[in-house]
Amino acid sequence: MKKLVAEISGVVSVLDDMCINSCTAFVGPFADATECPVCQEPRYKVQKSGKKVPRQHACTIPLGPQLQALHRSPESAAALTYRDQKTKEILEAFRTTPLTDCVYEDIFSGSDLRNLVTNPEITLSVNDITVSFSLDGAQLYQNKKLDTWIAIWIINDYDPKMHYKKKHVLPALVIPGPNKPKNLDT
Ligand SMILES: [Zn+2]
Repeated sequence: MKKLVAEISGVVSVLDDMCINSCTAFVGPFADATECPVCQEPRYKVQKSGKKVPRQHACTIPLGPQLQALHRSPESAAALTYRDQKTKEILEAFRTTPLTDCVYEDIFSGSDLRNLVTNPEITLSVNDITVSFSLDGAQLYQNKKLDTWIAIWIINDYDPKMHYKKKHVLPALVIPGPNKPKNLDT
């Protein structure tokens, strides 16, 4: 059933080999490396049969197919227009209200994002989606150190009342510990 859902939705997970000390994943410039470029730990363990098996995997759930899926229901697609409407309201409020009376009620109220959306080189349309990335360690067993690192995407385009609800938080990464991932770009 999980395989069928993955095929229909296009939402799949991708496994990449990684250093057992969490220095880096073996992707990009390290795709063909047989040992970690940082700590020199070998990438593979060799079984008795001579077969090489990766020692550790990181799991990525690509964002693109998950965002596409959000447009498949009319309710979700409508909810995603919040950011566009709210940004217009905020820009108008900041234009017509003294700064000391302006209410900061969403991340789009902040000056960094207000300056960004009024930059003529940025063409953010109602159909674009903006996300926030968040990563933290999780202790899954009572008597072990932080043993898994989990990253999520927050959809900023939903109303803040809903964008932190579990249903609307998208999974991004699961990285085994116990060490903190060092080269997150990989
Ligand atoms: Zn390493």
